[in-house]
Amino acid sequence: MAVREAAREALDAIIVGAGIAGLYQLHRLRELGLRATVIEAAGGIGGTWYWNSYPGARCDIPSMSYSYSFSPELEQEWEWTEKYPAQPEVLRYLEHVAERFDLLRDITLGSRVTAARFDETAARWTVTTDPGGDLTARFLILATGCLSVPKLPETPGLDRYRGRVHLTARWGTGKAGFDGLRVGVIGTGSSGVQVIPVIAEQAAELTVFQRTPSFCIPAGNRPLDAAEVAAMKAGYRQWREAQRTSGFGIPSDPPARSALEVSAAERDAAYQAGWERGDLTSLIGSFTDVLVSREANETAAEFVRAKIRAAVGDPGLANALSPRTYPIGTKRPCLDSGYYATFNKSHVRLVDLRATPLQEFTPAGVRTTQREHELDAIVLATGFDALTGAIAAIDIRGRDGAVLADAWRDGPRNYLGLAVAGFPNLFTVTGPLSPSVLSNMMVSIEQHVEWIAGCIAAMAAAGHRTIEATGRAQDNWVRHVAMVGAVTLFPSADSWYTGANVPGKPRVFLPYLGGVGEYRRACDRVAARGYQGFALA
Ligand code: FAD
Ligand code: NAP
Repeated sequence: MAVREAAREALDAIIVGAGIAGLYQLHRLRELGLRATVIEAAGGIGGTWYWNSYPGARCDIPSMSYSYSFSPELEQEWEWTEKYPAQPEVLRYLEHVAERFDLLRDITLGSRVTAARFDETAARWTVTTDPGGDLTARFLILATGCLSVPKLPETPGLDRYRGRVHLTARWGTGKAGFDGLRVGVIGTGSSGVQVIPVIAEQAAELTVFQRTPSFCIPAGNRPLDAAEVAAMKAGYRQWREAQRTSGFGIPSDPPARSALEVSAAERDAAYQAGWERGDLTSLIGSFTDVLVSREANETAAEFVRAKIRAAVGDPGLANALSPRTYPIGTKRPCLDSGYYATFNKSHVRLVDLRATPLQEFTPAGVRTTQREHELDAIVLATGFDALTGAIAAIDIRGRDGAVLADAWRDGPRNYLGLAVAGFPNLFTVTGPLSPSVLSNMMVSIEQHVEWIAGCIAAMAAAGHRTIEATGRAQDNWVRHVAMVGAVTLFPSADSWYTGANVPGKPRVFLPYLGGVGEYRRACDRVAARGYQGFALA
């Protein structure tokens, strides 16, 4: 599709990506009276919720908290049906938002941004789109997503395999059925844990290829009842404020005690309460030290392993499904809607790839070091080149022709996760080194979008043409993010948070762990001090 003609007029901003971030950024810039356009590679809006349409895909933050807060009218009129909404419902919501705020007329779908070059004389970005050609604008805003570039398995031979191949992160809109088929699923992170129980209901045989097991906590998903919806809607403003000042964008009482200073019975009672709440944070957040002390962490990990043993009939299978190679919480936990119970079904088999690694795809299926598994369909739930993948995929050149990919060769370097020294008038929404994926992302996205809009408005008021992070502020921020991460157990795990899932990617702890409330205060302080740490010209 060609880039919309309107987009060719003198633009103030080009926004890349039409997910939650890009949609809201467009709305905010329009409110400032700016001319902005959105370029989106997908055939529809919604980002994550467009691409990940695999069976079982579901949000794992409660719906009424994983929704925009910027419009009280939108909050009141939209009716969520479940505690954890399924992918079609989230996508419907985003489509409603796009229509309600008349966003579609400034969005070009089916066009990929391949390159961007900053022209120092004109103080404008020239952005190359494919298809679509070149566009120019004063500001370039990358709302390209933290989890938008899928990672395929490194295993050779996929092109030789003759059966059906599905990628959870590029599922498509057609309904793929698995009735009567021999299906293999590779990957047991959040996507695998969600898709496996649903495919198990259809397949004649399901083989799950697991390299690293996940810790899963029961979702306890259920329909929302009218009274709780009404109560939430009545108190939405206070709730939103609590989200913004919380640690992870999900209000909760901070723990007061160490897991090691209470009796085993008290500890288990606290973990049990967290388990029953059916969310991502309560169990791990039961004590102050679960994410900082190996000994404390092991008490929570063992609590969940005992639950796996109780859920899975075969003790050998329960053992194989029990994570032991990383501290609980340092790889993203999953919410379980029938995952462990699926392994009690006689037609479901687990292949432990640590014992028998994958060797190759064959024309008939996959071969491990033990044997060949013949399969009619393979589902790849093998994750993403997270946080930096979508930015690195664009050939971005800043001041003096500096190449962003070179500047980030040893890991991302930026200021506040928002701006990069040497790349004026470029912003990243929930970029690496911001709380991003370690939060309810709706909260982090809104905060970034609003900060960027505020910055652009302040520049206009002061008559500034460019803004650019200083090298010094950037160095300090990179050091600070690493220091905060290093206090915790997170960097010790081979996770996508550290880039360890992508061969050759530098190992850097990518999200900022200071908490969304603290981070927001830091960003607001920078703005209040006249954009301290930035050079304005
Ligand atoms: P995205 O939704 O990823 O949108 C980015 C868009 O940019 C994409 O559509 C992509 O096609 C486009 N794009 C990228 N590069 C280019 C380019 N060069 N040219 C043109 N277009 C480009 N977070 C939570 O907080 N809670 C959850 O429950 C949750 N569930 C998730 C479930 C799944 C399956 C996945 C994968 C992620 C989940 N996340 C969740 C994280 C989720 O990514 C964010 O919550 C949020 O949707 C991100 O929105 P975004 O607009 O920043 O990015
Ligand atoms: P992921 O967590 O990175 O999981 C990928 C899985 O594939 C892992 O089990 C990984 O094993 C395995 N894998 C990767 N390459 C492999 C290979 N070559 N051979 C064998 N196994 C391989 O990715 P994801 O499940 O898509 O989730 C990514 C993130 O998206 C989540 O953490 C979450 O933030 C978000 N998400 C959220 C939800 C939700 O519930 N709302 C749903 C889906 C995704 P190793 O661990 O050994 O690398």
